[in-house]
Amino acid sequence: MAEHESLEFGKADFVLLDSVSLEEFMANLKLRFEKGRIYTYIGEVVVSVNPYRAMNIYGRDTIEQYKGRELYERPPHLFAIADAAYKAMKRRNKDTCIVISGESGAGKTEASKYIMQYIAAITNPGQRAEVERVKNMLLKSNCVLEAFGNAKTNRNDNSSRFGKYMDINFDFKGDPIGGHINNYLLEKSRVIFQQEGERSFHSFYQVLIVLLIHSVPSFSPPQSSINDGADFKAVADAMKVIGFTPDEIQTVYKVLATILHLNSKVVAVIGVLLATKEENVGKALLYRTVATGRDVIDKQHTTQEASYGRDALAKAMYERMFCWIVGRINDVIEVKNYDAKVHGKNTVIGVLDIYGFEIFQNNSFEQFCINYCNEKLQQLFIQLVLRQEQEEYQREGIPWKHIDYFNNQIIVDLVELQHKGIFSVLDEACMTVGKVTDEVFLQGLNSKLAKHAHYTSRKLSPTDKSLEFDRDFRIRHYAGDVVYSVVGFIDKNKDTLFQDFKRLLYNSSNPVLKMMWPEGKLSITEVTKRPLTAATLFKNSMIALVENLACKEPYYVRCIKPNDVKSPLLFEYERCRHQVEYLGLLENVRVRRAGFANRQEYPRFLQRYKMISEFTWPNHDLPSDKEAVKRLVQGCGFEHDVAYGKTKVFVRTPRTLFCLEEQRDEM
Ligand code: ATP
Ligand code: MG
Repeated sequence: MAEHESLEFGKADFVLLDSVSLEEFMANLKLRFEKGRIYTYIGEVVVSVNPYRAMNIYGRDTIEQYKGRELYERPPHLFAIADAAYKAMKRRNKDTCIVISGESGAGKTEASKYIMQYIAAITNPGQRAEVERVKNMLLKSNCVLEAFGNAKTNRNDNSSRFGKYMDINFDFKGDPIGGHINNYLLEKSRVIFQQEGERSFHSFYQVLIVLLIHSVPSFSPPQSSINDGADFKAVADAMKVIGFTPDEIQTVYKVLATILHLNSKVVAVIGVLLATKEENVGKALLYRTVATGRDVIDKQHTTQEASYGRDALAKAMYERMFCWIVGRINDVIEVKNYDAKVHGKNTVIGVLDIYGFEIFQNNSFEQFCINYCNEKLQQLFIQLVLRQEQEEYQREGIPWKHIDYFNNQIIVDLVELQHKGIFSVLDEACMTVGKVTDEVFLQGLNSKLAKHAHYTSRKLSPTDKSLEFDRDFRIRHYAGDVVYSVVGFIDKNKDTLFQDFKRLLYNSSNPVLKMMWPEGKLSITEVTKRPLTAATLFKNSMIALVENLACKEPYYVRCIKPNDVKSPLLFEYERCRHQVEYLGLLENVRVRRAGFANRQEYPRFLQRYKMISEFTWPNHDLPSDKEAVKRLVQGCGFEHDVAYGKTKVFVRTPRTLFCLEEQRDEM
């Protein structure tokens, strides 16, 4: 019996459960986790439980075992799903995508890196230099982006604070020839504020620790799971390999140093770092140039405005630098070869790794955006997994019965609907002339959403214990209730950075810095247009992302976080059950079981299994491949488990496939 079918490790595919109940699902998940089997299928979806320990299952030998094999031939693994996406792309000329979801700390980023490593390892057998270069760049980019875009949170020591979607482009041979990274809303408020126990972005500590080690010989870095010193070197090396020039790398350090200094208000040092006059820095921090009718005057900031401006500058400089780094990486990975782009067929595999659903002690605008993003992806999962199945059965003429599931579209609408949704109410509040406060925004929410089943607030539910403060509102997300504080929503949504700062940075004699701030070129009288708000930009980018994913053939990795203490031993039952429920995994199994585990076009099926039957080996003389497959299946006694579509044979349970595989091996 194949290892992946052995009962000792539970069922390799949840579809094989004797009955589909939450209890059985959980028992299987737990057993497999305890036996070190962290991956399990639901058909073509991989369910992964974070092992919180190094697993010896990602090496070269394992890669070889999965290369070119079918999903059900080997024990469940990320590599199998990566291979399936790759095969679909190569054999069927399809754009595919791998969507990795799960809450913060569930293992999405680690999974995305293993998937990329796998794809890099199985491609370019011809060792073409350009392809090797591209692969190297794609892998190295992870290290750089994590340094600048990840941070320690109370949920995850290496939490992604930005969303990332990476396209890998392949040529007609199936080798990677380029890529492109889209990044989504960086949680830049982290630059100036972190909750207790959290850190700012890794990059700051990496630079600081190296400075300390150099200047204080007796200094020994604190013990922690994060090795900033070693990471500093790895990031610096990776940046060099990617092609950042020494000047560019220096500028990055200077921006980091500026931000650190801004928080201690040392104007002269900043002047040097930014290669601009000290008095200009002081002026930009203390005054604002405003146009009044025909005059242009310098208006002095209040203390509050000045500290607001300083924080906004620190955040904006970091965010701008981050986007610039992504842009520089894109410069070197984008498909260069004009011929490959225009003539050869060029297909892509997209890999999506975003910030997972999160609930903190204090949840603000950033958590709201992150959790909305997760709602969008859950919606996509529902649509694709169900829609795809249904459409295929219709196309092939196979009868189908509907399966019920919780549709989170209602929450997506609550956030993004024009005029009625939370983002619209927020934007409206921001447009109001005069002094708008977060409370005005909250009143707007209360009056528009009082009746919504997924919204409430202190005002609407005064006796509710979880709503501690007047400023709180609560959303019932698909993954749980989250209480948000309205404090800061207005400012974060407006995301104002005084034009004076943009001019200051644009007028720097450091060309790299200047490049990051092109709009500083505009004079005060030229800047009139109101920029889009942060919420609108984010919403638009999410809608575009989902559209992009929806037109590709999707593969899913659903990550589960087994406990909150990063323990490799602990399977917290309730915690896991909750995730299984909100991820809709049980419904997923039901849909899969009501349907068919596997489908293959007749010729392909024959090609693989024709040796099993005397009627089909080495060739058949039946009128069609369909007839031949029927004959083969009859001979094996699997008729009850199979349906015949127009072009494909549908196999209900994976067990049948395993049996076919075994018979094939015995031949
Ligand atoms: P976030 O949404 O906060 O970015 P995430 O889902 O990306 O979270 P990861 O950063 O991938 O979570 O994983 C968190 C930690 O869990 C990792 O730093 C690592 O210690 C551990 N981990 C995750 N996956 C694996 C794995 N396959 N093997 C070993 N350890 C893992
Ligand atoms: Mg992550």
